[in-house]
Amino acid sequence: MNKRFDLFVIGAGSGGVRAARMAAKAGLSVGVCEDKKLGGTCVNVGCVPKKLFSYAAHYREEVEDGPGLGWTSSSPSFSWPTFMAQKNKEIERLNRVYDRILRESGVDIIHGRGKLTGPHTVEVAGETIEADHILIATGGRPFVPQIPGRTLGITSDGFFHLSEQPRRAAVIGGGYIGVELASIFHGLGTETQLHYRGPMFLRGFDNDVRHFLADEMRKKGMSLHFECDVHSLEKTDTGIRMVLDDGDEVETDIVLFATGRRPNIEGLGLSHIGIELTDRGSVAVDDTYRTNLPHIFAIGDVIDHLNLTPVALAQGMAVVRSLTGGDGTCDLDNVPTAVFSNPHIGTVGLTEEQARAQVGDIDVYRSTFTPMRHTLSGRPEKTLMKLIVDQASDRVLGVHVVGPEAGEIVQGFAVALKAGATKAVFDTTIGIHPTAAEELVTMRDPVPPPSPYEQ
Ligand code: NDP
Repeated sequence: MNKRFDLFVIGAGSGGVRAARMAAKAGLSVGVCEDKKLGGTCVNVGCVPKKLFSYAAHYREEVEDGPGLGWTSSSPSFSWPTFMAQKNKEIERLNRVYDRILRESGVDIIHGRGKLTGPHTVEVAGETIEADHILIATGGRPFVPQIPGRTLGITSDGFFHLSEQPRRAAVIGGGYIGVELASIFHGLGTETQLHYRGPMFLRGFDNDVRHFLADEMRKKGMSLHFECDVHSLEKTDTGIRMVLDDGDEVETDIVLFATGRRPNIEGLGLSHIGIELTDRGSVAVDDTYRTNLPHIFAIGDVIDHLNLTPVALAQGMAVVRSLTGGDGTCDLDNVPTAVFSNPHIGTVGLTEEQARAQVGDIDVYRSTFTPMRHTLSGRPEKTLMKLIVDQASDRVLGVHVVGPEAGEIVQGFAVALKAGATKAVFDTTIGIHPTAAEELVTMRDPVPPPSPYEQ
């Protein structure tokens, strides 16, 4: 007899696992299928290994800063294979944790790729599953542009499995992944270049933040190339020749395409059962994550809204609420985010440009300073902090930080923004001294436009 569930989830990444567990805890019979390792992109080839790599990459600066703080050490070296083994051990531990928490919640795990064969049926590894409700949570996959020699390059998936550290690397793309992985390569000592087709990387972030980060990265010796697209790749005896649009050539050992991701829908059988897609090829959903077949939901990167793990978790919870008679919408205002570049970016709310366009009259509070530890280490790194405030209501509309632990700082301020905090509330909040974050509650005078990077 076919297996039958109240909810069947296709894809055991962050969103799928959260929805499956919570639905099972709410009393539904739940199955989930996955053809790769449990945990999806985030755990296996995304956030988690990236953050571990980022710790390793930043560690070099800890060592370099030592003498100014009284420490001496012999010249340290980084072992890529040792780090990889450590990283793999941790990821395998997390894979087991995901397996355990799913099973303990009563979820039936089926290994294999799911394919929709009918409105209520999914085929996995030759088995037909029947379900009242289906959740598509298949995530995304890297996209590589159609240029000659593209197969010589790797993507973030390949980065996390490189057996050796390359001596030279060229990263193509100026989004989260490009900036983060280029920072990691550079921090670990690989000669790194980042190439981005537009005038400044991290399109969509506050302009000031983008320029400030670029300046800081260049100060650290990173080679950034803007307005420069890649034309083709060719194998040479000593590496890979990257030919740029302007005819320039660069030789490198690794070319990493960080040129975006696409919804992972291939072979899912969506057209077979009439599931509608958006123009961008993502699964189309309403504000409760239902597709045009209302018993079939979709969440996470496959719907390509805000492709962040915590957003997929929130969407998964919303689907469970729908299935148990609650509110199936998700409040995605003021979603904070971080870029684990070096230094980090942490940001929540509107950028200065968005606020000027949407609100009009705003005040901008801006401060740059040397983080306290670097008064002793001598490192010429600066931190940027910026608040965007609505003149009419005094509400703080945006908080932007470039500096150490920016994500940790902004997570707390995101609560204040969600609560509708005004600048007056920020002003009456006592700072924690001495911290960098206290700067955000002690900014007294708005700065006149334009921002330093527009002058
Ligand atoms: P992004 O969409 O952020 O960036 C893609 C980059 O590639 C952009 O700079 C884009 O340029 C460029 N690009 C796109 N197509 C081409 C092309 N044909 N030729 C040359 N360049 C091209 O994607 P990522 O892959 O960096 O990240 C995917 C998503 O994953 C992110 O949107 C984010 O939501 C999530 N993520 C989040 C992280 C975090 O929270 N810290 C970390 C990593 C990923 P242009 O700007 O001109 O379009």
